[in-house]
Amino acid sequence: MSRFRERFARFMAGRYGADKLCRYLIGISLVLMFAGVFVWNTWLDVLAIIFLAICYFRMFSKNIGKRFEENQKFERLLFRITEVFKKWRYKIQQMRQYHIYHCPNCSQKIRIPRGKGKVSIHCPKCNTDFIKKS
Ligand SMILES: [Zn+2]
Repeated sequence: MSRFRERFARFMAGRYGADKLCRYLIGISLVLMFAGVFVWNTWLDVLAIIFLAICYFRMFSKNIGKRFEENQKFERLLFRITEVFKKWRYKIQQMRQYHIYHCPNCSQKIRIPRGKGKVSIHCPKCNTDFIKKS
């Protein structure tokens, strides 16, 4: 067993190995295979195998610079997507807790907590007062 491990270590020397993109590729292919159990569609299996093949190709690749670059690109994309979702979640949370009113004079956005009845709102920008339901 240790000989096999040693051989594998020697094989992997100078190769790229697993990274975040790899883990996501494996995850996606597992999901596709799992979905393939319920939906009879050979394309799901083919896609899963393609993703796995890409993952193994990247793991055993000796072009480390290029693989690293790919992973960086992927992480940037992932970051952008998660940021969009975070922003949505924040907006929904804000909508539940606050009313956003626009000042009738200068249309400045003003955030008012919900559920306080009728309130007099003071615009900090142009000092106009107006009454709204919160
Ligand atoms: Zn105003």
